[in-house]
Amino acid sequence: MDVLTNLAQRASNFVLSLEMWDVLDILVIAYLVYRLLLLVRRTNSSRLLKGVLVVIIALWLSSGRLRALNFLLNHIVEWGVVALLVLFQPEIRRVLEQVGSSRLPFLELFSKPQVDRHTIEGAISQTVSACGDMSKSRTGALIVFERHIQLDEVLRSGTKLDAEVSSELLKNIFFVKAPMHDGAVIVREGRVLGAGCMLPLSRNVNLSRDLGMRHRAGIGMSENSDAVVVLVSEETGSISVAVGGMLKRHLMTETLEQLLRNELLPQPEDDGEKNGKKRKGLKSLLAKEKKGGGKEDE
Ligand code: ATP
Ligand code: MG
Repeated sequence: MDVLTNLAQRASNFVLSLEMWDVLDILVIAYLVYRLLLLVRRTNSSRLLKGVLVVIIALWLSSGRLRALNFLLNHIVEWGVVALLVLFQPEIRRVLEQVGSSRLPFLELFSKPQVDRHTIEGAISQTVSACGDMSKSRTGALIVFERHIQLDEVLRSGTKLDAEVSSELLKNIFFVKAPMHDGAVIVREGRVLGAGCMLPLSRNVNLSRDLGMRHRAGIGMSENSDAVVVLVSEETGSISVAVGGMLKRHLMTETLEQLLRNELLPQPEDDGEKNGKKRKGLKSLLAKEKKGGGKEDE
């Protein structure tokens, strides 16, 4: 009982002695640990993390008498940090890029004005029309709609363009004999900025086996950024959308349009509140279909 009272006393002393800076400190550390765990999960490196933990525990246990082992482990840790930096260079770079390109509220004041809603609406309806046609003609397509996270690296891998999104342009790009039909089109703020771009492949090992490289690249892009990816299958003509690592397959053009509008158009916050409606993105669509026993696919 004494121990418990003592513990409670210590905890309350600790809480009372906390200052604003301590709270901020804890929040920042918690956020960094959260990002690290996300990175570990996304890069499938939990085994590596276990290895690192084993070395740290061994180092701690050997710090008393096992001097030779402790000496060896100390050196392993020193070099291990360098090795980890080299091993995770692409991931670290990606995380830093994401931090750099995510929007900070106070910076929004200085950023360029929001894109015209009509431009985005036009891009959506043109994309939907092109996807409908490409679905009928079984033309493979991969279209990435950039959102907050900028995809400059991906754009560099393809051919630069700068054109309004139009159904004809998209069909031309993905026409099987056209030079740029391989790879992805990147759309930023309603304009086609690149074609023939290479996307990162998904590392999700649980994906359905009938998904080929195009779909894996689309899902991979949506895992690595907040982009919305539209796919048309060359084999089946089926239209899919990937967001946040989830894929919704076999979409009708009407559903595609609704989904793109929900994901890409700025939603007036108060509108949603007034009508008591929530933004219906891919996640809510998937949840709704699961409830209703509908098909497909994460
Ligand atoms: P489909 O249903 O259209 O056949 P799929 O998912 O089965 O699609 P594949 O048949 O392997 O995929 O499609 C290959 C095409 O996917 C390539 O010709 C290329 O255009 C595109 N592709 C493959 N990998 C990537 C990548 N990393 N980035 C962008 N596009 C890619
Ligand atoms: Mg295929």
